[in-house]
Amino acid sequence: MNLRCLSCQRAYPHDTHRWRCECGGVFELEGTPGFAQDEIEAGDFSLWRYRAMLPVKYEEGIISLGEGLTPLVETQVYDTTIHCKLEFLAPTGSFKDRGTAVLVNVLRELGVKRVVEDSSGNAGASLAAYAARSGIEAEVYVPAYTSPNKLHQITVYGAKLVKVEGSRERAAKAVQEAAAQGAYYASHYYNPFTLEGQKTIAYEIWEQLGRRAPDNLVLPVGHGTLLLGVYRGFKDLLTAGLIEKPPRLFAIQADTCAPLHEAFQRELADAFPIEKTETVAEGISIARPVRGHQVLAAVRETSGAVLAVSDQETLCARDELARRGLYVEPTSAVAIAALPQLRGLMGTGETTVVPLTGSGLKSQAKGD
Ligand SMILES: [Zn+2]
Repeated sequence: MNLRCLSCQRAYPHDTHRWRCECGGVFELEGTPGFAQDEIEAGDFSLWRYRAMLPVKYEEGIISLGEGLTPLVETQVYDTTIHCKLEFLAPTGSFKDRGTAVLVNVLRELGVKRVVEDSSGNAGASLAAYAARSGIEAEVYVPAYTSPNKLHQITVYGAKLVKVEGSRERAAKAVQEAAAQGAYYASHYYNPFTLEGQKTIAYEIWEQLGRRAPDNLVLPVGHGTLLLGVYRGFKDLLTAGLIEKPPRLFAIQADTCAPLHEAFQRELADAFPIEKTETVAEGISIARPVRGHQVLAAVRETSGAVLAVSDQETLCARDELARRGLYVEPTSAVAIAALPQLRGLMGTGETTVVPLTGSGLKSQAKGD
């Protein structure tokens, strides 16, 4: 296993403490074990049932909060039948726990004692929880506008919270300055080990659908780590000869912050930084997705699309879902809000999976 820069192709050992290449490029993890059907530990009811397929050694035992193996629940919204993957039931209430669990176990191997991270809330809360569990000191940089429930969650876990006035991008800049002083930057979007954890959503969906891939996956996208993780997971299943093709990936953004949507429509290979305005979908309010090139390539390769929805559509979709008993934060509801637009793009009788990424309990009571 080693890390490779996606820009200049330079290789680094997998245990480097660098968070990106000297050239500024982002890392990809190479030489991962891949999927092996015979190695599923069927008696383990967490994502560690796939431990043989994850880039973690096990000599000292795994740190876990029981993440993974979330339910897949069928419902109908906007005349479309979907399978909801209840990622909001994760230990800290969001899908981020899969990536954090794998990353924190890697960090233990590397002997890392202190980490910094920037987040709009969910990734920070997830890192704070797993850092507490493993005795690692964590410092989380958040934009000052982050919802109070997420800020509270981060501090109760015992992480140090640094509120940064201004945009999400200013929080990212502040944390990079802290990393330059020697702290390990446990970034959920730069660090490729987090994508390995997200892969397990694909493995689980495959098992839960009776060992087959769905036709479509609809996901909220900011930096695109969920989409890329799921894509890699289905590629592993394809390589193992267990599916015929990966599902079509439909990436959904908020229309006030939609750099990938713009790039997709203009047929560009990468997103360019945009001027954004506020959105209720705070978890995907990302003006400069660092893996935009990879996201667009995955969407195009699977014959998917990038769409955008308004805040009003998102809040309506949140309520529609809640009336079916599923309470999610607005960021998660953008995928539901896109279903009317997707009707023309998906065939009848197709299987569509929507990961419901974050709990409604994390959002502000007004919402919105
Ligand atoms: Zn490079």
